[in-house]
Amino acid sequence: MAWQRKIPFGYLIRDGLIQPHPQEVDAVRYIFGQYLAGASLLAIAEDMTRQDVRYHQHTTEWNKNMVKRILENIKYTGAGGYPRLVSDEDFAAVQRQRRSRNTYAPLSADIRPIQSKMVCGLCGVKMIRGNRSHGLVHWKCQNSDCGQNISLSDEALAELVAVQLRELALAPHLLTAPEPQQAGVDMEAIRLRNELTLALNRGTESLKYIRTLAFAITAQRYEQLPDPTPTHELEQLRARLEQGSADADTLVSLLTTAVRAVRLTPDKTVELELVNDTIIAEKEVQSA
Ligand SMILES: [Zn+2]
Repeated sequence: MAWQRKIPFGYLIRDGLIQPHPQEVDAVRYIFGQYLAGASLLAIAEDMTRQDVRYHQHTTEWNKNMVKRILENIKYTGAGGYPRLVSDEDFAAVQRQRRSRNTYAPLSADIRPIQSKMVCGLCGVKMIRGNRSHGLVHWKCQNSDCGQNISLSDEALAELVAVQLRELALAPHLLTAPEPQQAGVDMEAIRLRNELTLALNRGTESLKYIRTLAFAITAQRYEQLPDPTPTHELEQLRARLEQGSADADTLVSLLTTAVRAVRLTPDKTVELELVNDTIIAEKEVQSA
């Protein structure tokens, strides 16, 4: 069994009391500060190894698990009768960042869920996945007037989509139900009713054709009713994300439930068009 510290890093027992450890207190605060400034667990561990503070007495080496344990230890906020070393605000900010940085979940190489939603970033028409050659896949816009043709590996496409899904995972409030598309549905209903009237007046149409039109009109009416299923699923997803759960499965659920289309542009960027018409696009790159 590994050697365990009797009390957490940052404290010592003197005169039977738990007290801040003079050097380790600085290290704890330094670690929290570095993490909040954006340093990775590994970078902080390497940094700490170079300093003259030991986590374990028998070695100067730090690893990222030690850093992680320190960042997660609520005793530093004064819990359990320990002296406070870190403010509640800093501790909470670190936990939030830990959750958001953990949303780094790769999508699987199975791009079928993406494929069904691929549209051209220029004209919005569906894109078709061509054959794979030398690891690259050609995505071709079906609109012959547009003809956009982009070659990309499946892995690169999955990662481009995952980047945007992770952004979306950090903004669960965007997961709202779509507004009913009244205008378009009404137009289609009017067109169908006109066609039915004409067909009946012609009196030469088959019963089968008349019934097909009638069924289509009924289907249109159902479409006008709000479908409870996506709303419910979106709410469940939102609740999961608000609790900080954004693993690979959640990202796939986001893709299948909340995303209507994945737009691929000629400069190989990906935009997500949500079912509620919100667009998740690449953030402006800050110029250095
Ligand atoms: Zn196109």
